[in-house]
Amino acid sequence: MTSTTTTPGSATTAVALSGVTKVYGRGANAVLALDGVSLDVAPGEFVCLVGASGCGKSTLLNLVAGLDRVSGGQITLAGDANPGLMFQEPALFPWLTVDANVEVPLKLRRLPRAERRERVAELLRTVHLADFGRKRPHELSGGMRQRVALARTLALETPVLLMDEPFGALDAMTRDILHDELERIWSERKLSVLFVTHNVREAARLADRIILLSSRPGRIIYSTEVDIPRPRRIDSPEVAAIAAEVTERLRTEVGRHGQ
Ligand code: ADP
Ligand code: MG
Repeated sequence: MTSTTTTPGSATTAVALSGVTKVYGRGANAVLALDGVSLDVAPGEFVCLVGASGCGKSTLLNLVAGLDRVSGGQITLAGDANPGLMFQEPALFPWLTVDANVEVPLKLRRLPRAERRERVAELLRTVHLADFGRKRPHELSGGMRQRVALARTLALETPVLLMDEPFGALDAMTRDILHDELERIWSERKLSVLFVTHNVREAARLADRIILLSSRPGRIIYSTEVDIPRPRRIDSPEVAAIAAEVTERLRTEVGRHGQ
């Protein structure tokens, strides 16, 4: 199979990648970005994908999202829903209010107006922005804009959430608060999350499992379960210990490439 397919997966897998390869360009200019990546995300599992800049993290996420096609291998998503997506930039519609931004996916789902209103209010309460529905994105802080983006993604009600460095542009304090909120929402809604970050501490704070990708081509070189009880603190000794272990692997990997 050389195409991304969306088929009803088995109940034990939310996202399945099997021998996924991605080549950009052709001939002498071809870049092998991913090489034989196989990975299963279980329903309700929080998986963090870490690796050096340029190792293929975004490529992998875009393939799972269906934004690009695999060059080889197969990707299977459980159920028939498209996954929810979040990027470093919240990509809100600047001319729409917060309410209207969150309402977009509900309109696309053709929910009746009264129900849309109710859902928008509930989603904004979920991300602690109940009083900001009438504001426009430029009136909000970066952290608040990312919460709006999260509410809009949750409005899709998809069981799978794909996040590409969603908190990478935020200050540490704001990021800390959003980690708490994401963890709560993930556990309440029993979401399956594939979360990309180059921040190893963030991965140890959030993940059930951390996957480390090598550089050029991206291959899975290390994987570890994170058994620290939740809720966690990013500055706890347990999180620091896991982060140190993953950082050591990452350092060895980057050193191997002589960068
Ligand atoms: P990461 O997200 O881990 O920083 P990317 O997935 O963005 O890495 O990129 C992986 C590799 O693929 C890099 O070498 C990058 O230059 C290359 N790449 C990414 N997108 C394209 C593209 N559209 N065309 C050609 N090369 C690309
Ligand atoms: Mg990237």
